[in-house]
Amino acid sequence: MQYHESMIELVGNTPLVRLSAVTAGIQATVLAKMEYFNPGGSVKDRIALRMIEAAEESGELRPGGVIVEPTSGNTGVGLAIVAQRKGYRCVFVCPDKVSTDKINTLRAYGAEVVVCPTAVDPEHPDSYYNVSDRLVRETPGAWKPDQYSNPHNPRSHYETTGPELWKQTEGRITHFVAGVGTGGTITGTGRYLKEVSGGRVRVIGADPEGSVYSGGSGRPYLVEGVGEDFWPEAYDRGVADEIVAVSDKDSFRMTRRLAREEGMLVGGSCGMAVVGALRVARRLGPEDVVVVLLPDGGRGYLSKIFNDEWMADYGFLAGGEPATRVADVL
Ligand code: PMP
Repeated sequence: MQYHESMIELVGNTPLVRLSAVTAGIQATVLAKMEYFNPGGSVKDRIALRMIEAAEESGELRPGGVIVEPTSGNTGVGLAIVAQRKGYRCVFVCPDKVSTDKINTLRAYGAEVVVCPTAVDPEHPDSYYNVSDRLVRETPGAWKPDQYSNPHNPRSHYETTGPELWKQTEGRITHFVAGVGTGGTITGTGRYLKEVSGGRVRVIGADPEGSVYSGGSGRPYLVEGVGEDFWPEAYDRGVADEIVAVSDKDSFRMTRRLAREEGMLVGGSCGMAVVGALRVARRLGPEDVVVVLLPDGGRGYLSKIFNDEWMADYGFLAGGEPATRVADVL
């Protein structure tokens, strides 16, 4: 019989799919790493598994323990799937800008969710960073993975995402593009690819306009899961050769095009990363192979990015290129 012992065995080994429509006029090969093929639907399954196993090995997480983490959703899903399998309780702390779809998803996996205001400083007692610290102090057996500083976040990518890409492209990858949130993906994957290629692979970060990685002040933006208003430890500033800043409007329009033209129903940070990848690929030749990592699927964003009224309210459908098709503007 062919079967897996549990969903955890399906983490990683995601496929690469060539982008063929949104790349019109580009000579380089542009490949998308489809992270929504992970069992929890996002790239974060990789770090969840690695962080939990490392904490078990170090003794920080003991049988019957409670996992407490500030997470915008995807890390929570990954942690919840691994935790339920291994018998841990999960308590997640989310900022209020996260879609209710994502919060309901966490609850569906059996996690408890605490929602905090976005419009306060990280130092404020109600900020989602501080609420989670308080919960850790007050909950017996609590362990906080802290994806922002946990070395096993970038390490999981160094050990899985990076080697997968090298193997899948038979060493022909020339550029790697990823959005930057905690910085774990770009740091771990980028570091591996640079090492294995003797420094040949170029690493490019995509970042929402306003976020610190691309020189912003930390002002608000709408794309979820990427950008920061502080510098996390998981992010190694030495890995990216270049950071491309992308607007919410460009990110969301590209996200919609990926669904309509490539059959990829993915999240807003995927559109952002693809805009970054295309800006890089435009300057390249036919020998170049650009891989862009698409962190999650689009189901959690149906009432936002894929909702014409929501898009129109922010002015994202107005001006320039078509909404995408005539039906959108009727
Ligand atoms: N996109 C989404 C939707 C995410 O949830 C995350 C993780 N915060 C990222 C991109 C960025 O990945 P990383 O944290 O590894 O930088």
